[in-house]
Amino acid sequence: MEHLSDRIKSLSVSQTLAMAQKSRELKAKGIDVINLSLGEPDFNTPDYIKEAAKKAIDSNFSKYPPVPGYNDLREAISRKFREENGINYTPEQIVVSAGGKHSLINIILCMVNPGDEVILLAPYWVSYYDQIILAGGKPVVIETTLENDFKVLPEQLESGITKKTRLVIFNSPSNPTGMAYTREEMNDIARIIQKHDGLYIISDEIYEHILFSGEHVSMASFDFIYDKVITVNGVSKGYAMTGWRIGYIGAPLWLAKAVDKLQGQFTSGVCSIAQRAALAAVSGDDGSRLKMKDAFLRRRDIVCGLMKEIKGMKVKVPQGAFYVMPEISYYLGKSDGETEIKTSDDLALFLLDKAQVAVVGGDAFGAPNCIRISYATSDDQLTEAIKRIKGALEKLK
Ligand code: PMP
Repeated sequence: MEHLSDRIKSLSVSQTLAMAQKSRELKAKGIDVINLSLGEPDFNTPDYIKEAAKKAIDSNFSKYPPVPGYNDLREAISRKFREENGINYTPEQIVVSAGGKHSLINIILCMVNPGDEVILLAPYWVSYYDQIILAGGKPVVIETTLENDFKVLPEQLESGITKKTRLVIFNSPSNPTGMAYTREEMNDIARIIQKHDGLYIISDEIYEHILFSGEHVSMASFDFIYDKVITVNGVSKGYAMTGWRIGYIGAPLWLAKAVDKLQGQFTSGVCSIAQRAALAAVSGDDGSRLKMKDAFLRRRDIVCGLMKEIKGMKVKVPQGAFYVMPEISYYLGKSDGETEIKTSDDLALFLLDKAQVAVVGGDAFGAPNCIRISYATSDDQLTEAIKRIKGALEKLK
């Protein structure tokens, strides 16, 4: 007889991971599935980073690590924040965790009381929503539109703020839309945050290194809200290190100390070897980051170019990350005579079934009229995948 807490029952399964799992199952049966559902670079971790980890193993770097991360790693991250982002965080304000996802749940658990409101800007990354639920908070979703490049307007944000709002979660470049805010747009948002006492903003900058045009702007670099920003970052995306599980925050000291306390009871800090790899990553650069970015840019152009030829699909060309989020409402309500497409999830399942291409329905991102396509795979696979999607969609009447 199962006995599960209400807490875990209230959580949904990550839709992106669920779709990836379905696609793996079909692949195992010998079906030629192209997986465009995962948020993972298809590159290998650069050699200079792997070397650092091998060295750490050979020198028995295997004792319990300090809970908030090794000092030299926190110092290197502090330097990175200063040099790349124009933000001053002392090493004490930095906490290293098992991935950006872990950094985010730490912040939310340390800041959100049951009933507190947290503003999400839809389309948002799936895990934000459920992490808020896990903490007993209330997600308040503000919807943006494709016409506005999926960006929130200042007046929209203002109208979502109440006395109970504790946090806004902001993510640029964005998963799932790939959109990136300009300095002026961010300044407008920062001014709103500044006005409200007790309101904080999480700035998830995990895609900062995958930006094709313009400059990456860090929310905490606006001095007037520095105390109200928690910066989240990590090595998964920019350095092709998803499996190493290293994320980190720069935060006000009181919050960094709280996260340290929480990790002290949860994880006792992060894998010592992975921390050595992360130290090499954030303090070195062998040019592979730029190569990966160029490859993503080329793929973006392949995918967006081909998708514009698909009837009824509305596409905004993203500036960063490795996702594109076309609007597919034209296909809702249509059928191939066998399957009726009522939701974006139905469309994702239809594409998996009929085109053997895995994408993710927009429902899980708070974007029911969209699907998310991840273009972190080879040029040939992408060309083939979009051709298959086009062929399958043509059958919907
Ligand atoms: N934030 C966003 C917006 C993401 O897309 C992801 C990964 N999909 C993360 C955070 C977390 O990444 P990780 O835990 O691998 O560092």
